[in-house]
Amino acid sequence: MPTRTQVGIIGGGPAGLLLAQLLHQQGIGAVVLENRPRARVEARQRAGLLEQGTVDLLREAGAAARLDREGLVHEGVLLSYNGRRHRINLSELTGGACVTIYAQTEVVKDLIQQRLSQSLPLLFEAEATRIEGLETSTPVIHYTYQGEERTLACDFVAGCDGFHGVARQAAPEGFFKTYDKTYPYSWLGIIAEVPPSTDELIYAFHERGFALHSMRSSTRSRLYVQCAVTDTVEDWPDARIWQELHLRLGTAGWTLREGPIL
Ligand SMILES: Cc1cc2nc3c(=O)[nH]c(=O)nc-3n(C[C@H](O)[C@H](O)[C@H](O)COP(=O)(O)OP(=O)(O)OC[C@H]3O[C@@H](n4cnc5c(N)ncnc54)[C@H](O)[C@@H]3O)c2cc1C
Repeated sequence: MPTRTQVGIIGGGPAGLLLAQLLHQQGIGAVVLENRPRARVEARQRAGLLEQGTVDLLREAGAAARLDREGLVHEGVLLSYNGRRHRINLSELTGGACVTIYAQTEVVKDLIQQRLSQSLPLLFEAEATRIEGLETSTPVIHYTYQGEERTLACDFVAGCDGFHGVARQAAPEGFFKTYDKTYPYSWLGIIAEVPPSTDELIYAFHERGFALHSMRSSTRSRLYVQCAVTDTVEDWPDARIWQELHLRLGTAGWTLREGPIL
């Protein structure tokens, strides 16, 4: 079990895993501590759309072979304004940049596979509990693993454990500034077992609220509707979700395909 490393990385999500690989390419050692089991990390549904910069970075990291084979490349997006659509050719406007549909679950699987195939340290079910000496040149991560309290001495600690993680809480007062904007509405997102009804994403402004038709793959649609902050899942039975999506995304001569919501 490693007790010392150059960079101790807390969190084995996309940020922590990719950072570990980029450091490895520079000859810098790292240990990644991830508090969830591997299966859970690989199944966590979140992002589905990768910007060009992310795709480029994954290629640089040597982690884009499957992404390049299976990702759906989109050169443009559709903006819908109360039923009228306008296509924005992203690629033409930016000198070749595209967006790529490739689920975060797949990015994470690829990065985990890459790290383990290089026999580099990545511990699952290893929960960082606190960081000692963060302001010093020898910080120590305290973590639990296989029921035991352990420590990892580091030259640097990278807090890649998300908004609610321990790294953020460990930072002393005034260590960083927070900028945030709270919107007065929420998003309801679904994944439906139905091929997308569009080749490119549709971002729709509608008087009833925003809607987005995105996709996870050529067989699964990802759809969002704007809803009230106070809404709960019970307020949105499947029939209501589809009804709103039809209204907000609809345009003449186009049909939204429905399918089971997963
Ligand atoms: C519904 C949704 C849709 C999104 N869609 C998109 C999109 O289309 N495109 C896009 O670019 N982004 C999207 N995002 C944002 C994207 O998912 C995040 O930016 C991304 O997950 C951030 O990665 P991360 O590695 O920083 O954090 P996370 O993915 O949150 O990973 C943090 C990791 O740290 C681990 N951890 C936490 N605490 C500890 C601890 N104490 N010890 C050890 N490990 C710990 C967690 O288990 C987790 O694995 C979306 C997000 C959501 C919620």
